[in-house]
Amino acid sequence: MNNEAILRCRNCETKNRVKLEKISSLPICGKCGSKLEIPKGTISIEGSEFSREVLAETIPTALDFWAPWCGPCRMIGPILDDIARSYPGRIKVVKINSDENPNLSMQFSIQGIPTLILFRDGKEVNRMVGAAPREHILQFLHL
Ligand SMILES: [Zn+2]
Repeated sequence: MNNEAILRCRNCETKNRVKLEKISSLPICGKCGSKLEIPKGTISIEGSEFSREVLAETIPTALDFWAPWCGPCRMIGPILDDIARSYPGRIKVVKINSDENPNLSMQFSIQGIPTLILFRDGKEVNRMVGAAPREHILQFLHL
């Protein structure tokens, strides 16, 4: 198990190696001294933020296509939130409303929701369609 995370500085784009046990102590960028921020829980994005928040992300990122009317989406929502909070620096969880972002849904050929896509270094490595228990999601995310 890798005990380091690579965090991209939001200010100067430098990639910083940070030990996982130090992640909660607000590490700063080795180059510019800015705080290296890690989302606490899931974050929600629009299609325009996809490149920056998912493709350029240096830690493994799970993108959740969901919609407010979708029961199974609402079921895994709190689980994903909890996972994102429990594994800082090891997984980033990003939610996108598939109704409001049809272009991205089309780009990834989303057939049904929820669809959870796992990205590493900006590439899709795996996807999961439909709701699943926490244990299954953790396995899917290699946590
Ligand atoms: Zn920096």
